[in-house]
Amino acid sequence: MKKIIIVLMVSLLSAGSFTYAQNKTGADMSKECPPNQECSKDMMKDDMKKDDMKKDDMMKDDMKKDDMKKDDMKKDNMKKDDMKKDDMKKDKSKKEKKQKPQSVAAFLIKSGKTAVLVETGPDSCYPELEKQLKASGLSPADISAVFLTHIHFDHAGCAWRFARNGTKIYLHPNGFRHMANPEKLIESASRIYLDQMDVLWGKIEPIEEQMLVQVQDGERVTAGDLTMTAHFTPGHAKHHIVWQFGDSLFTGDVAGCRIGTGPAVAPTPPPDLDYSEWKKSIELMKALNPREIYLTHFGRFDDPHPHLEALSRQLDFLFNLSEAAFRRNEKNEVPAGFLDAFFEAYYRAWHIGNDAVTAYGNISPNWMNAQGLTRWMQKNLT
Ligand SMILES: [Zn+2]
Repeated sequence: MKKIIIVLMVSLLSAGSFTYAQNKTGADMSKECPPNQECSKDMMKDDMKKDDMKKDDMMKDDMKKDDMKKDDMKKDNMKKDDMKKDDMKKDKSKKEKKQKPQSVAAFLIKSGKTAVLVETGPDSCYPELEKQLKASGLSPADISAVFLTHIHFDHAGCAWRFARNGTKIYLHPNGFRHMANPEKLIESASRIYLDQMDVLWGKIEPIEEQMLVQVQDGERVTAGDLTMTAHFTPGHAKHHIVWQFGDSLFTGDVAGCRIGTGPAVAPTPPPDLDYSEWKKSIELMKALNPREIYLTHFGRFDDPHPHLEALSRQLDFLFNLSEAAFRRNEKNEVPAGFLDAFFEAYYRAWHIGNDAVTAYGNISPNWMNAQGLTRWMQKNLT
């Protein structure tokens, strides 16, 4: 039976609004504030201000890098179809300022009459998801099952809509109560995102318990013609699952983010960030010997082993340098400014384009990463 995997770019339609919100508040669509997060509103606001200032600096810097970027774009486009080249370039330059391309994906797997989704994206992107399903000849009601890697809003935000259509939602037991009763989740996230909550995430509704299926580590789930295997993979979040389909892995955030030709980068939000668990999860993914990996941020990559090894090195590098910054910081924190400098150097070394740098920042903002690293270091190093 022919099996097809389609990457759906669920972030495209609403991206203009997200960019607006991002500029106003420093908030990002890719993270909620998980229920146990211990960070004060004022700290958040301060960090947001810093983030805005940093963005201004980056914009100035980016203007200087414009020439370099144009060169990169030229090289990229040379690989593409000549007939489409000019149109694509024009289109791209028009969209760049308003959209966040390649930020959040959902994955459609089709086999015979069975169609399932891995991830749903946030509810704010549901119209776009519907549109892309339609382009594949499907409606949301045709989806037999939704497999969530974890319950962060950018991955699971509109799972409730599918549940209302009668679709079972498969997830980690630790995510169960938050999806059944999302009040705490919404309350915490609202403290961060303030009035941008709706723009960024849309609605978050409870899911009836009988529609939520808790899976165990190693469990095989069959939906019609398809079988998916759950692998518990903590590190980014305690309730994280890598879903295996044949020799393909759907890795959520535990295999990091990777935009275009950029590096593998680990997003490190609070409260569950765990360095040693993450390293173990990377080893587990390597041992599964996948042929391809699907990153929610962003897309398919056919070099899983080099990717995972590079991610492991990036994690070491990030934690080692952050530890040094943490130990020398009077407040016992990893300052967001340190991460700004770290990633700026990192991306510069990689020679990645302006739009990719922005995409990394949208997916994994440093004010959030700094809180995750600080929390982990305060727990483990003091
Ligand atoms: Zn994510």
